[in-house]
Amino acid sequence: MFKKKIKAIRYLSRILFLVVIVATAGLVQFHISLGLLILAIVSGASFCGWLCPFGLLQDIGGEIGKKLLKKRYRLPVKYQKFFQYFRYSLFTLPSLGLGIVFIYDPQISLLSLLSNIYVSIGAWMVLIIFVILSIFIDRPFCNYFCIEGSLISLQGILRIFRIKRDKNTCISCGACDRVCPMNIEISNKKQVNSINCINCFECLELCPKKSLSFGLLKLKNLFSNK
Ligand code: SF4
Ligand code: SF4
Repeated sequence: MFKKKIKAIRYLSRILFLVVIVATAGLVQFHISLGLLILAIVSGASFCGWLCPFGLLQDIGGEIGKKLLKKRYRLPVKYQKFFQYFRYSLFTLPSLGLGIVFIYDPQISLLSLLSNIYVSIGAWMVLIIFVILSIFIDRPFCNYFCIEGSLISLQGILRIFRIKRDKNTCISCGACDRVCPMNIEISNKKQVNSINCINCFECLELCPKKSLSFGLLKLKNLFSNK
């Protein structure tokens, strides 16, 4: 019941945000930067889990995939880590004269479409490819390519609230690791310090022992986290 409630609230918050974007022809996205910065400082990349329309589209793709395929595919951990760090290097593209790739950024393309701004066929295709990929793997764009997501994640590097694990009740079943759409290893940490966490609370909902919670950062767990 609890599980379904959080998921439903997250879908609702993202649909409402999407409606606001359409109603304001995209202006809201440009006027809430300060709000998003504060949100990131407090709780990290919550925008990605609770508001982003392209995150919503990929999660819908993921729900379809779970129903049709009954399983999710993942890159081997070492490749995952490589590509997740690779995402943070994409900031350098404009300085390399490759800013043109932003025309094909599906997160921007979707925002443009919602704001009634022209989107090229190529950008449409990239958007569709990532939605199709999300049927097989969790949030392929968020995990490995989203520049806005990586910027928000970096703003949340010192975030005050984090997912925490109670070692005393955890049975190390690994269910949290398997459900995390951002491929974070949770089951061997006292606290999730990864800046990739989007606060979707999927791990918290699925934990059979209710060992996970969302609470104030513990400084000592920044350095000794097992
Ligand atoms: S799902 Fe809960 S019990 Fe299982 S490993 Fe994660 S924290 Fe521990
Ligand atoms: S650690 Fe938990 S809250 Fe964070 S992204 Fe993974 S499943 Fe979501």
